[in-house]
Amino acid sequence: MVDIRQHNVPNSPKWGIIVAALLLGNKSDRMNSPSSAVYSPGRQATILIVDDAPDSLELLDEMLRCEGYQTFVANSGPRAIDLAQRVQPDLILLDVMMPGMDGFETCRRLKGHPETTGIPVIFVSACTGTDDVVLGFDHGAVDYISKPVRLPEVRARVRTQLQMQSSSEHQKRQARRLRMIVEGMDEGLMLVGADGRIQYANPASERCLGYSESELAGRPLAALLAEPAANDYAAYFDRRDDAVLVRCQGTREVLLQQADGSLRPMDLNLSPMAPGEQLYVALLHDISHHKQSENALQRAALADPLTGIANRRLFDTCLEREWQRAIRTARPLSLLVLDVDHFKLYNDLLGHAAGDQCLQAVAGTLQAHALRATDLAARYGGEEFVLLLPDTPQAGAAKLAESIRADVERLRVPNPRSTTSDFVTVSVGAATFVPTQFDDIRSLFLAADRAMYDAKAAGRNQVLAVEGGYAWDAMHRALAR
Ligand code: GH3
Ligand code: MG
Ligand code: MG
Repeated sequence: MVDIRQHNVPNSPKWGIIVAALLLGNKSDRMNSPSSAVYSPGRQATILIVDDAPDSLELLDEMLRCEGYQTFVANSGPRAIDLAQRVQPDLILLDVMMPGMDGFETCRRLKGHPETTGIPVIFVSACTGTDDVVLGFDHGAVDYISKPVRLPEVRARVRTQLQMQSSSEHQKRQARRLRMIVEGMDEGLMLVGADGRIQYANPASERCLGYSESELAGRPLAALLAEPAANDYAAYFDRRDDAVLVRCQGTREVLLQQADGSLRPMDLNLSPMAPGEQLYVALLHDISHHKQSENALQRAALADPLTGIANRRLFDTCLEREWQRAIRTARPLSLLVLDVDHFKLYNDLLGHAAGDQCLQAVAGTLQAHALRATDLAARYGGEEFVLLLPDTPQAGAAKLAESIRADVERLRVPNPRSTTSDFVTVSVGAATFVPTQFDDIRSLFLAADRAMYDAKAAGRNQVLAVEGGYAWDAMHRALAR
């Protein structure tokens, strides 16, 4: 796994927000924790000077105070350890040769204690042999100054050391914050190598996908995607096709394959970490809730609110699609148009609410006859309904129409004022076309509607089926006479 601390802050807009948060965090941190042991510009650094020789001690103390540092002094190893633990200095200048505990042992103990292990130590010693210097660094010192000291040199080394410490602490703190933010994000964040394989996945990615981080590591990003995105992203990382760059960089709606095999819609944002860097940031934003409500809205927009079956808008869309398909396949397309008989009388006698219930019952009966996936029952308007029957010849359509008519009658919904029947009935017109590109799409509905009116005129509660368009049918009837 990649340690994210090793990477530059990427330049995508979301990361911009993260960086801004980091910078803000910095400010408040500086303001709220002045007692932090970490030296930062603007705060007086504290330096502990350890030497058994009072002259040396005094010389360094005076010089460092003049430089604006806050100083503490100790004349022995044990005293230095005690002070270091209590005042947590930013830096320790440590003499090597001291009676009792020498500087090396003092340093060893400082480094061995969790509270003082991070405090940088510079040895200041008259022992300037290579072995001594190496031993000093071996004990964990960051620098070694030889005695007699040259004050400008001490000043420069102290300043450099404090600056280095400050910037490394700053980086560590930035990295800690960055990690905290990345791990606490609601959005999935993954780092993807130039080979398209996932190198790091934050906890939100694990939640989004149902895989653990170790299961995600090493997996090609494209392998988590459903088509057509899978192909595009595989090609993107293979550099096979420049055209896919456009489709893969930035935000794209994709379906991600979850551990349990289900697909979840998400916005995937892929952007290079930094110009020239062979690492990508992939941000995942779960849009399944949004999709669900979008689908619900779409469904609501296409449903008739009273009866719950399709509305005219959906019917028009389906008719267009099936009409074109019938032209391509040269298969018969049938349409039934139903109208409730004497419905005005029903409404007038029993009221609008009862009328609504009656329409719901008729719609239910119609819907029950839309058996195939491509059949569509819809309320066309008022008390008029349609049933679109792709790939259905006239005989089948006529049979279905008769079955619907009989079932509505069988509902035995009383319509006392009807002159046709004691019960609610419907008249049905059926039209069947094998359309060609020369036919007008409107002719199918017109033919079925006119057939329905002919059924009304012939006494209602009956079916009239025509084929090949009303004009064609009328011509055949005329020829037959
Ligand atoms: P016909 O047999 O010739 O079709 O006669 P009809 O009375 O059914 O036809 P007409 O077109 O005269 O009347 C249709 C009635 O349907 C009038 C209108 O109030 C009623 N209607 C239309 N939409 C609704 C509705 O959503 N709910 C209710 N309750 N009634 C409706
Ligand atoms: Mg009617
Ligand atoms: Mg009507």
